[in-house]
Amino acid sequence: MSRGTADAVVIGGGIIGAATGYYLARQGLKVVLLERAFPCAGSTGRCIGGIRAQFTHDLTIRVMLESIKMFQELDEELGVDIEWYAGGYLFLAFDEQRKQSFLQAIEIQKRYGLKVEFISKEECCRIVPGLNAEGLLGGAWCPTDGQANPFKVTYGYLEGIKRFRGEVLVCQEVKRINVIGGKVVSVVTADGNEFFTPVVLNAAGPWAEDVGKLAGVDVPVKPDRHEALVTEAVERCLEPMLVDYRPDGCYFVQHYGTGHFIGCYTPVPIVPGHNLDASDEFITEMPRRMVRLLPKLALVKVLRHWAGSYEMTPDGNPICSGTPVEGFYVSAGMSGHGFMFGPALGKLMAELIVQGRSTIDLNEFRLDRPWTKAEAMK
Ligand SMILES: Cc1cc2nc3c(=O)[nH]c(=O)nc-3n(C[C@H](O)[C@H](O)[C@H](O)COP(=O)(O)OP(=O)(O)OC[C@H]3O[C@@H](n4cnc5c(N)ncnc54)[C@H](O)[C@@H]3O)c2cc1C
Repeated sequence: MSRGTADAVVIGGGIIGAATGYYLARQGLKVVLLERAFPCAGSTGRCIGGIRAQFTHDLTIRVMLESIKMFQELDEELGVDIEWYAGGYLFLAFDEQRKQSFLQAIEIQKRYGLKVEFISKEECCRIVPGLNAEGLLGGAWCPTDGQANPFKVTYGYLEGIKRFRGEVLVCQEVKRINVIGGKVVSVVTADGNEFFTPVVLNAAGPWAEDVGKLAGVDVPVKPDRHEALVTEAVERCLEPMLVDYRPDGCYFVQHYGTGHFIGCYTPVPIVPGHNLDASDEFITEMPRRMVRLLPKLALVKVLRHWAGSYEMTPDGNPICSGTPVEGFYVSAGMSGHGFMFGPALGKLMAELIVQGRSTIDLNEFRLDRPWTKAEAMK
């Protein structure tokens, strides 16, 4: 049992806690990051590393334009090769309704200067040689989207916190948040270690609701299970993240450096809860779906298969906000996009916490919003 002080305590050692902790520390705050297990133990270590600005919510597009700019410079900022690669994202439209929804999305995205267009079936086949284009009407194509390595980015930020005289403590589960007179005062871990602080950030990912309760704050974040697989490495043959939104579709990308394919699909119906058992259904279905899109993958072998959580809010958009408890902040509910949001939301939340406002206004992600503006490209 020990006692310590911090200018800010961050709860959670995933990408969101790591990035926000880093930008807080870079602003001169003494940061203590507390992680219940080990870095990337939650959703971050289970994600497939995709990064895109093709969304429909205005604020999300702005956040992602900023994040992509930051990803391009993160090697230098963190002193780590984060494996950023701009291979693009290609969203495929197999029916007229989907095509129209992509066209509407593109109209919004272009307002913010995103280099995105709806391309023909022939152009899709040029970008993805070997694509099975049966029934394809075309696709939404953005060449500036890309991929990076979630572990390298997260560890890069955590090392950065330490460089700015912060601490990253693992196997430290926060069990209590002490609030006196409506203000946060300290957090206490399972080992009885207490850290006195005026600022606590809830970056607990799929467990953000539980951590909110510790401070008496309702944080509506519910986990649902998503599975993923990685194949053996083969010769490079796919540049973009390929997204097929059909109910029996999938999305996958080839790692530009190693040649592994990594991908997942959204189960129908969704599988709510914290259960992370990997299913027989996924390991049967996913390779079939991948081969349907790219028949040349038929002989590529699957190496591993796992499950992780998306962290869902009622409208599918993040919560990045202060709360009714002074000094208690939330950055959680990232749906399936927390890795790509990490750099920008980390920087913007740090600004909100330290300066009281951020260079991109996060008001539409506040905790007490009406939850009416849903994201269409989840
Ligand atoms: C299969 C899959 C594929 C995905 N693909 C992508 C993708 O391509 N691109 C993308 O951007 N996103 C993707 N995501 C989503 C992304 O992984 C998440 O949105 C993101 O990792 C969330 O980060 P986080 O830091 O909020 O949460 P987490 O990474 O879950 O971190 C939260 C941490 O808090 C810790 N914690 C919880 N409670 C406590 C406590 N009481 N005390 C101390 N610590 C605590 C946990 O141990 C955990 O390490 C994917 C997710 C999955 C499951």
